[in-house]
Amino acid sequence: MDNKKEKKKSDFRYDTGEARVPWAAVGEHVNVNDIAEMIKFLIPGDDPSYSEQLKVVTSAMEELHKKGSYAPKLSMDSNVKKLEEAMQELLNVKHACFITNATAGFEIGFKFAGLKPGDEVIAPAITFLSTIHYPLQVGAKVVLADVDPITLNISPEDIRRKITPRTKAIIPVHIGGYPCDMDAIMEIAREHDLMVVEDAAHGFGGYYKGKALGAIGDFGSYSFHEVKNITSFGEGGIVVTNSSYGEDFAKSRFGGFDISNPIDKWLYDVVALKGKGGHYTVAGNHSSTEIQAVGLLTQMERLPEIIEARRKNAEYLNKRFSVLDEIIPSKMDTEDIKSTHHLYLFQLDYTKLNGDIQDFKKKMTERGIVQIAHFAPLYRFSYLKQLGYDTDAMQKTCPNAEEAFLHKFTHLPLYPLTDDQLEYMADNVIEAVKEMKL
Ligand SMILES: *Cc1c(COP(=O)(O)O)cnc(C)c1O
Repeated sequence: MDNKKEKKKSDFRYDTGEARVPWAAVGEHVNVNDIAEMIKFLIPGDDPSYSEQLKVVTSAMEELHKKGSYAPKLSMDSNVKKLEEAMQELLNVKHACFITNATAGFEIGFKFAGLKPGDEVIAPAITFLSTIHYPLQVGAKVVLADVDPITLNISPEDIRRKITPRTKAIIPVHIGGYPCDMDAIMEIAREHDLMVVEDAAHGFGGYYKGKALGAIGDFGSYSFHEVKNITSFGEGGIVVTNSSYGEDFAKSRFGGFDISNPIDKWLYDVVALKGKGGHYTVAGNHSSTEIQAVGLLTQMERLPEIIEARRKNAEYLNKRFSVLDEIIPSKMDTEDIKSTHHLYLFQLDYTKLNGDIQDFKKKMTERGIVQIAHFAPLYRFSYLKQLGYDTDAMQKTCPNAEEAFLHKFTHLPLYPLTDDQLEYMADNVIEAVKEMKL
């Protein structure tokens, strides 16, 4: 197979194949025993017949193994490549790179954006810690923008207010999979020559005016952590770009490893990553595994059904809640907007009620309905203060984030709920809000 040639190009740990004394790519193969343990972990059971059935499966695997061989590679190889090609096609992007998690993708994007100490990055106040992890790590200054009061996505008006001559990048987050106002954000970025790195951790499979979320800015990164709509077996991410920086994605994923131009008497070279403005950084190691790629390839096929099931549930809740003015409806899809419905955003107009979202949450908990707000505004966590930020001042510039977090919003579970669970939740939300009426 001329597969071999490709392997040599992409990885130095190649299987030397048919030689008299070959050099194996995999030090110790995954055997039937290992796989049996994985099955016990992934499909646990304590029924008496479970261990009987497991024996059947294990001996069938042993038979299968006699007829087959071992996977020649476990780290990046043909499945990773196949996944990346599928991603390029689905998202309509020039470059896609499978990595350990979405956070690594932001890091890669920021490195190519040439982010350095002293530069500023604008991120929304309401997001997960990952969004601003690399800027903080590298000593850039994080500026938190306020959010839109309805979608909780970053407010383009507040981005404008917070731009300074030091601003280098904007990192919009499609919270819950609902698209940010990307036209406005891209316009600001063009006006001020800023890079846009999209946090599309919730956005895989969503669209904004026909473009895939994550594929609109200079870079976008998706998460396939276990809590997201689909997963590459617990952890994983894809970073994408249409820019020529994508040609260096492989190097950015794996230490600056460059097999195309080996140094004298060695197999490869190690290069630094060249970002915008000629700024060089060192690449990390964010390599992913073949098994994760296999998992994500099969889950990708189920994504349209998953998003549709989530959308239907969201629509049902919106419809049920429409009887009460005090519930602010969650935004649904339009011709231009296709959300991934990763989260169902629930907001109360608490000014019309006796109590706010915190009182509502207590009532839900009493009724056995779990809700998680996703997320506390970042200036509320200790680390920013510990790093020397004036978090009180930051808080004052984000009144919508503050009000939403304290008084207005939470997220309700959406998937995979049974019809009964969904109906129980809707009934109880309505009842609880009625109890809070003035
Ligand atoms: C999950 C999440 C991330 C991080 O994803 P990882 O793949 O775990 O790095 C980033 N941003 C948001 C908004 C998230 O919810």
